[in-house]
Amino acid sequence: MFNPDRSSPCTIVQLDDEKVLVDMGEGTSRQLNLNGIRLKEFTAFCFTHHHRDHNDDAMTILPMAWLRGNDSPIIGPTGTKKLCDFLWDFYAEDLEYRSTNLGKTGKQLNRPEVIELPYKKPLQIGKMSVTFAEVNHTITTFAYRFEANGKSVVVSGDLRYSDNLIALAKDTDLLVMDSGGVIYSDSSTPKRSGIGQGSSRNNRAGKSRESRKQRGKNTKTAHAPLEDVARMAEQSGAKKLVLTHFRPGTVAESETISKMREIYSGEIIFAEDMQTYQ
Ligand SMILES: [Zn+2]
Repeated sequence: MFNPDRSSPCTIVQLDDEKVLVDMGEGTSRQLNLNGIRLKEFTAFCFTHHHRDHNDDAMTILPMAWLRGNDSPIIGPTGTKKLCDFLWDFYAEDLEYRSTNLGKTGKQLNRPEVIELPYKKPLQIGKMSVTFAEVNHTITTFAYRFEANGKSVVVSGDLRYSDNLIALAKDTDLLVMDSGGVIYSDSSTPKRSGIGQGSSRNNRAGKSRESRKQRGKNTKTAHAPLEDVARMAEQSGAKKLVLTHFRPGTVAESETISKMREIYSGEIIFAEDMQTYQ
């Protein structure tokens, strides 16, 4: 569902001037542009999995990155090569046209290396070593661990309870995790304002409440309930937990924290677009 308050999943992992983009859900391209982050700054593009809410903006971001001369590796599960090949081939004429405008030809663009996981060799992106683990979701999904100078960040992707995530995130400094069954307050109806506000919109809001009830049934198999999110954080020993991937609505933060506190003792943060965590 469209979330007016947050973009779809995307995380930038940054070490000094090196940036890695992990997932590129709807809103990623807009936020990068609004915040002056240029595509040529990325040293790799990673996908946790190929659900649409995690790769929506690949259609914008990847061809634009190639056009700007960024041939950084693209890493992800099976399907990543198919996606990149499709974009490269489908936009061949467009890339050629725009390259000419920039004073070069499409034939001069470097086709990036695509690495599909699991990858047998050690993965190194600039100064960061990268490890990964498959986690439990509805399709093949990988969590990533980025490590350098004795510090680490783990990005979970979407998941149910996964022993692999606990092992991967062992003693990590920062665990960016699918928020799973986070608690929403009663005022969780998406904010609606401006053009088109009226009865038809209200009807849509009613429908969305109904469909949320329906979706609750599926969410059990796709995303971990809150207790399991807390258990994975605690069992991994993660020092700080950044919850992400929220559905539209208002998160009942204190209620969520007090429930998680029964299990997890580290710091808990509710991610918002373009916030920075260390
Ligand atoms: Zn997913």
